[in-house]
Amino acid sequence: MKELSAGGRIETTCSRCNDITGHVIVAMVGDVIVKVECQACGSVHKYREIKKPKLKSETSSVRRVRQGETRDESVSLARSEAAKKAAQTRANQRAQQEAEAVMIAWKSVIVSKGTSEARPYNMREGYVTGDIVDHPTFGMGEVQSTVRPDKMEVLFKSGVKVLRCTL
Ligand SMILES: [Zn+2]
Repeated sequence: MKELSAGGRIETTCSRCNDITGHVIVAMVGDVIVKVECQACGSVHKYREIKKPKLKSETSSVRRVRQGETRDESVSLARSEAAKKAAQTRANQRAQQEAEAVMIAWKSVIVSKGTSEARPYNMREGYVTGDIVDHPTFGMGEVQSTVRPDKMEVLFKSGVKVLRCTL
């Protein structure tokens, strides 16, 4: 790592992406890279050389080098806070998209099959995949699969639920 400096780019391991991704060097001590920012997920983390399973000893040696760098540390902490928040937002968006996808899947089932043959949900009854059930709390749902002896997965408007039944 001769010509590397803060702001430079390097390919290394990102624990969040669980992959080797492009990173920007955030902090260096001498010519040792200590902190990098992943360009894929935005997380700021300690630099880890690719293919180095002994993380612990590396971490402690980096710690020693970094002592006395508190200001730099708080700056990068603030940045990692921001990255965390951004990741949280992305996770929320993903959850929302999944909820919408469930809603769309549920709607298309209810529209194509109709609810005229819906059976009221009763844990003492048996159901087969494809049955439409009418649940007092979750509303109309379609049986996705059944698991012997007494469970079934049902797609409701609010998501897939596992319900008791008698198979
Ligand atoms: Zn990453």
